[in-house]
Amino acid sequence: MTPKAARFREALDEGRADRRSVGFVPTMGALHEGHRSLIRRARRDCDLVAVSIFVNPLQFGDERDLATYPRDPDRDAEVADGEGVDLVFAPDVDELYPEGDPIVTIDPGPLGNLLEGAARPGHFRGVCVVVAKLFSLAGPCRAYFGEKDAQQLAIISRMVADLELPVEIVPCPTVREDDGLAMSSRNSHLSPEQRAAAACLSRALGEAEALVREDERNAHVLKAAMARRIGAEPLARLDYVAVVDERTFAEVSEIGSPARALVAAWFGAIRLIDNTSLAP
Ligand code: AMP
Repeated sequence: MTPKAARFREALDEGRADRRSVGFVPTMGALHEGHRSLIRRARRDCDLVAVSIFVNPLQFGDERDLATYPRDPDRDAEVADGEGVDLVFAPDVDELYPEGDPIVTIDPGPLGNLLEGAARPGHFRGVCVVVAKLFSLAGPCRAYFGEKDAQQLAIISRMVADLELPVEIVPCPTVREDDGLAMSSRNSHLSPEQRAAAACLSRALGEAEALVREDERNAHVLKAAMARRIGAEPLARLDYVAVVDERTFAEVSEIGSPARALVAAWFGAIRLIDNTSLAP
């Protein structure tokens, strides 16, 4: 273990030894209101709040996406400070992976191959490896994750259950801009025109919600409505629309039990995702 990782582990061990509860918020930095909401929730719930900032190369398939991922360490430090974070863990790649890429990894299971997993092969294996590693360093804690990345949240929850990791996962609602666009570090790369167009994602999800409120239960109808809405936006290139079982993420044909609608689309070179829960 590198000294920085050892200090992170020690600091949280010491906190627990003083009977302080630990809240942990893993992020890739370029902190925005979505991240802040997770930190505030951790601050409310826990005595000691730790944030990790690490752009994890293992979860990027595309070198260019990794190279251009927004990074702003100075501002992140200010945001963390302003939110009363006790500990920021921001290792370099060779501080977290001193032996190079891990050889022993974590299989995210079938859910890892669907939707985001199909669009980004290897993505969820990389996510599981880094999150398991961060959990191992952090030790017993509550860990805060955004519903914005619903499939990631489902896979990590299952990993924690299946591997008996000493972590309680706390899901947090998606924070949105005024026009509904889900906050994302990647939004900063959008041109003003693309930024305006990107609101079509949350509008499409809103349309699915409205249809369900009007008693529409047919997933094909909901998917067609969402695809039409995104398709009508000239600057958007639809990647997928899906309606899945909230728990298993298997596609459903009818909304019977709690379900989730998910969308992904490209705006130029930027790929954005969003989702919403659909209660029957
Ligand atoms: P990231 O830095 O994008 O890897 O995100 C770190 C954490 O913040 C993940 O748990 C995300 O789901 C969460 N997050 C990102 N954007 C939002 C948002 N708009 N609202 C709530 N949580 C978010």
